[in-house]
Amino acid sequence: PAEGEVRVRFAPSPTGNLHVGGARTALFNYLFARSKGGKFVLRIEDTDLDRSTKKSEEAMLNELSWLGLNWDEGPSVGGDYGPYRQSERNSLYKEYAEKLLESGVVYRCFCSNEELEQMKERAKQMQLPPVYMGKWSTASDEEMQQELAKGTPYTYRFRVPKEGNLKITDLIRGEVSWSLDTLGDFVIMRSNGQPVYNFCVTVDDATMRISHVIRAEEHLPNTLRQTLIYKALGFPMPSFAHVSLILAPDRSKLSKRHGATSIGQFREMGYLPQAMVNYLALLGWGDGTENEFFTIDQLVEKFSISRVNKSGAIFDSTKLRWLN
Ligand code: GLU
Repeated sequence: PAEGEVRVRFAPSPTGNLHVGGARTALFNYLFARSKGGKFVLRIEDTDLDRSTKKSEEAMLNELSWLGLNWDEGPSVGGDYGPYRQSERNSLYKEYAEKLLESGVVYRCFCSNEELEQMKERAKQMQLPPVYMGKWSTASDEEMQQELAKGTPYTYRFRVPKEGNLKITDLIRGEVSWSLDTLGDFVIMRSNGQPVYNFCVTVDDATMRISHVIRAEEHLPNTLRQTLIYKALGFPMPSFAHVSLILAPDRSKLSKRHGATSIGQFREMGYLPQAMVNYLALLGWGDGTENEFFTIDQLVEKFSISRVNKSGAIFDSTKLRWLN
């Protein structure tokens, strides 16, 4: 991104309803963009064709609009902006996969599933991490041409440095470091030509010039692979901010048994969108005072990532106010 240009994204997978966790992620992104005069991008991550549904996508767009979290750009649909959809960007992922293949960061792996299973078994017996040990990272051009001529299916595998560490400074969690020796070369495109999730996300964040990736803590482990891909693509790195989980009042993972958790449910119960937004903002954020009531304009004015809590936020819907 241009120096100082803030571009953030909310990237839901359309596999269900918009839940309080997702809505809070969307809100933090929205507030950050608005407070910095930046752009808020919406990207539907519908690469998992078995689990993604149009119905879920529609519901999510609907709830985001109801909350007033409008996005700023996307493919034009009748004078309006539609969201970006990963399912419509396959040729872009392929283009970048080819680039990485050409540069040698990625190689063709002709190992069958059986071979891969055997390798895993062997690694386990030798008490080694389950990293790729096949020959294709070092195979000769001749060997490769032979398999190509035979029509053997192949995946695109990313070459991971065999030692060293990778470090990022997360805006919420501080320094996070991974050691590379247990990662192993990983697949970025399957033999049927389908790019894998981490690859799509990275190509998207890079080409959409996302400056800050603000998302749920559960995606922190993905950041390792994504960072390696980012670097290989040669794009400037975004900043990362991983927001802590939302917990139930008993500090367990928030789930259906704790009552309403989707935005649609609260909407049906008659809560006003301003109440919902105000409540979501306070899940893991505060302005440092006792103040618990903020209009959206006040939130935009006061929001800062450095005030987002590192520890989990408790979701207690009895504290939600302003019923119709
Ligand atoms: N699609 C992911 C989800 O819905 C989000 C991925 C990301 O923000 O990087 O959980």
